[in-house]
Formats: sequence, structure tokens, C-alpha cells
Amino acid sequence: MSERMTGGCKCRLVRYEGTRLSAPMFRCHCRDCQQLTGTGHSEMLPLDIAGFSISADCKFYEMQGGSGQATFSGFCPNCGSQLTRNSSRMSDRIYVHAASLDDPSRYHPEKSIYAGSAQSWDKSAILESE
Ligand SMILES: [Zn+2]
Ligand SMILES: [Zn+2]
Repeated sequence: MSERMTGGCKCRLVRYEGTRLSAPMFRCHCRDCQQLTGTGHSEMLPLDIAGFSISADCKFYEMQGGSGQATFSGFCPNCGSQLTRNSSRMSDRIYVHAASLDDPSRYHPEKSIYAGSAQSWDKSAILESE
């Protein structure tokens, strides 16, 4: 499967493209996602790190992920749109925020992660996974 995915930020300074990695698309309710997005959760779609390209203007904020490893949040320094998330723990992929895709309808969340961290006002967004 090599679905081509393109997207970018609101002001169009930062653009990216890559191919879909066959790993679940998910909704993340962790505290990092809450703070970075200003909402209850993030919507993440995995792309293959091989062949992934993004404008040099993109800035990467480094933080410590839940696993203790370095995690990077990519964003546009001009308009502030959140674009990517990747960590040294899973170096074969980079996640993009679903709504940054040129065609966000290609995102189909399969599960929730860190559902235990969901805010009470966002519990209705938790996807039950089997
Ligand atoms: Zn921008
Ligand atoms: Zn998260």
C-alpha cells in the first residue's frame, strides 16, 4: 500500500508529503496532545519516514514522551498550525495531524489511546477498540 498523502499548515508556508504507513490511525487523549492542540485530543495518521518530506521552515519542539524518549512536535513558526509528531522510539514513522491533510476525509480513526487521560468534557470522543 503506498497511498500518497499531502498536507500543510494554514498559511501554506509549511507543506509535507509522504506515503501511508500500514499502522493504525488513532485518536490520542494524552496530556501532551491536549496542551499542544488546545483541545481534548489529537487525530494522528502515520506516514512512512522513508520518503517523507517537509518544508525546511517547519519547527520541531522537543519534549519527553510518555515512554521517556524524545518526542518531536512539528509546527509552522508563522501560523502555529500543529503538523507532525514523531519519536525516537518509533523511528520508522512520522504522524501527521489529520486535519492538516489536503483531504482530511482520508482519515478514519481506528482507536483511542491514553483514553484514561481524557477530560470529562471529551469522554464522548473515546473510541472503543476491541
Ligand atoms: Zn503556517
Ligand atoms: Zn497524545
